[in-house]
Amino acid sequence: MNHEAMFLADDDALVAFLARTFPGVFAPRDRIAVKLHMGEPGNPYAVDAAFARRVVSCLAGCGCDPFLFDTPVIYASPRGTADGYLASAAERGFTKEEIGAPVVVSNRSLAVSGETMTFRLAADPIEADGVLLLSHVKGHVACGMGGAIKNVGMGCVAKETKGAIHEGGEPVYAGGCTQCGACVERCPTGNIVLEGDRPRFGITWCPGCSNCAIVCPERAIRPRVALFDELLAEAAVLAAGRFKKAYAVNVLRRISRLCDCVADAGPIVAPDVGFVCAGDMISADAASLDLLARASGRADLFAEIHKHSPWEHVRAAARMSGRDATAVLREIG
Ligand code: SF4
Ligand code: SF4
Repeated sequence: MNHEAMFLADDDALVAFLARTFPGVFAPRDRIAVKLHMGEPGNPYAVDAAFARRVVSCLAGCGCDPFLFDTPVIYASPRGTADGYLASAAERGFTKEEIGAPVVVSNRSLAVSGETMTFRLAADPIEADGVLLLSHVKGHVACGMGGAIKNVGMGCVAKETKGAIHEGGEPVYAGGCTQCGACVERCPTGNIVLEGDRPRFGITWCPGCSNCAIVCPERAIRPRVALFDELLAEAAVLAAGRFKKAYAVNVLRRISRLCDCVADAGPIVAPDVGFVCAGDMISADAASLDLLARASGRADLFAEIHKHSPWEHVRAAARMSGRDATAVLREIG
């Protein structure tokens, strides 16, 4: 089976394409959750309200009933509660009046048992008639890149599960260190030193990326629950598998080093590319990574930056979905 993705270079081409495409995906009167990270206060790179409004208008133009949706975050931020998130989003222009659709932030969730743990999946996207994943592509310290899979696996879960995924990827020393130094070199945050005959953690901070467990040749470091990529991918596949209908739009503009969760996410690390659209999150992210490699001239840009290839979580999600991690990309003029 071919998993197709479309490349569109500019806003007008995207909007025209979506207006043609949505009627084949969603039905009139469908209530559509537009899943969007509305950005940490001060972050200049997240998808802006004017652009979100254009995409929402495409859905409304097809007779759908869209609403913007996100979940509150686990870290210290005004976005840590639904009310705080709504207030900070409103300051960025994400209001019903500006967007032309309600803005919903909710931690309401349902528990689903996976292979690795029980995930609390956001209820609103699952209860909606369909989901439009509107995802800003940018770097991420724990999984290399945040795209559509991250928008589901971390964005469509309750805040307790966000914390559990990060904690689940944290290192546990299992014994047998030969002091090769690989974990120290590979840690993106400088969180590890070798002390005596073993690694010590907790020097800086740990997002639970699992790099140290992945790289250790002796398996002396294990993730607390499972590799971060596996946990993220499992959450994403469990949630996406419950969406009644879905479509993904990846925004490859203002591609910053860090994610929209931080105010200071710079610098920009790749040229603006455009948009990738696909019927599923895996095709959208695989095609985005291919495009990014071409645009930047780097085979795996985010692996260089964050010492962690985003292909790991894309491949994990593909494997869990019984498919491969490729997409056939077509350019739409
Ligand atoms: S490599 Fe990742 S998981 Fe391991 S200590 Fe560093 S930040 Fe934490
Ligand atoms: S990678 Fe493994 S063997 Fe090497 S220093 Fe770290 S814990 Fe020890």
